[in-house]
Amino acid sequence: MFLKMMNDDDFYNDAAREGASPAALSPDEHHRSGIRFARRNRLPRTCGLAMLFMPVAGALVAQAQAGEWWLLLVGWCFIWPQLAWQLAYRSADPRQSEMGFLKVDAIMAGIWIGLTGVNILPAVALGLMTGMNLMGAGGVRLFSAGAMLTATAALVTLQLTGTAVALALSPLAFWLALPSLVLYPILFAWVSHQTAIRLAEHKRRLERMSARDGMTGVFNRRHWELLLSQEYEQCRRYHREAVILIIDIDHFKCINDTWGHDVGDEAIIAVTRQLQLTLRAADVVGRFGGDEFAVIMSGTGAQNAIAAMTRVHERLAGLTLPCAPQVALQISVGIAPWTPTFSHYREWLKAADVALYRAKNGGRNRTEVAA
Ligand code: GH3
Ligand code: MG
Repeated sequence: MFLKMMNDDDFYNDAAREGASPAALSPDEHHRSGIRFARRNRLPRTCGLAMLFMPVAGALVAQAQAGEWWLLLVGWCFIWPQLAWQLAYRSADPRQSEMGFLKVDAIMAGIWIGLTGVNILPAVALGLMTGMNLMGAGGVRLFSAGAMLTATAALVTLQLTGTAVALALSPLAFWLALPSLVLYPILFAWVSHQTAIRLAEHKRRLERMSARDGMTGVFNRRHWELLLSQEYEQCRRYHREAVILIIDIDHFKCINDTWGHDVGDEAIIAVTRQLQLTLRAADVVGRFGGDEFAVIMSGTGAQNAIAAMTRVHERLAGLTLPCAPQVALQISVGIAPWTPTFSHYREWLKAADVALYRAKNGGRNRTEVAA
């Protein structure tokens, strides 16, 4: 029932139609997304149809329509919204069911337009509500299909009931239709706004997840390299000081082999925490995968980076892992200050990697600075 651009589930479905993997949504996810879709339609339908009762009822009185139509009107306005929700909720494909119910709404709107002799204001209120719902849920395609259904239902009803067309515009009809004409678009906009807020939160969560390493919570390699490329551009433009560090745990395979992968994972998390506790909040820590980390220290020279790493070495020397106290955690570090000779950030990275290699070859548990 909301603006198409704000309908997250439609976005995913469009992506699937446009060639993305049809398996992008599992059957369970598809079902849950369908239920969310139906739930979002519940409030607008409940309030919208309740608002439509008065203008349609007023026009039925004017047309002196038979009593059974009143039953149908009460059922549609007050029982149908709850019934539609329950049916969609229990359906094997809630999205498909809800799409069908929107078309039912369009047909019902046509029936009332016919029965009221195309009384202008109730007809506008009916068309406005069902039109907004159809456009919001399924875009132009669903709106066009719904408009056709409404027009056909109105014509058939006019024919079958022999209702005379009365394009009346009475003051009473105006006052009865006014609340739905004013309030429904506001309600619709509010629900769309809520959807937009939820989508923005969802997007933020996804962005965060795509930038972080799942185990340690620091940046993953892809995002860290993106930040490094930005830092490189800043250094190149303003010739400011910065260093990068590559850090690798010594003999990590041995920890894994001796104590198992769980202890290995704990060691990786422990090193991450020590880095976070020792370094400044502005330092950008990333995990390259395995037992390798990288840090960007903006506005920092090699000497400060060495001092920071000395503190990390000291902290690790005094650290014991709760589930394997015998494990000695040591790291080797390669440091590369930015120099104008780098023509790409990858050369900067390579320099730090070479320094790390030297630290490993020099006996490990040490820090080396790129020449
Ligand atoms: P070196 O001192 O030369 O660094 O030797 P090393 O044993 O640490 O060797 P290396 O750095 O190549 O070891 C990386 C190992 O990390 C290999 C892989 O099995 C293990 N590993 C990679 N990712 C994970 C992980 O998420 N958890 C655990 N427990 N181990 C991992
Ligand atoms: Mg290692």
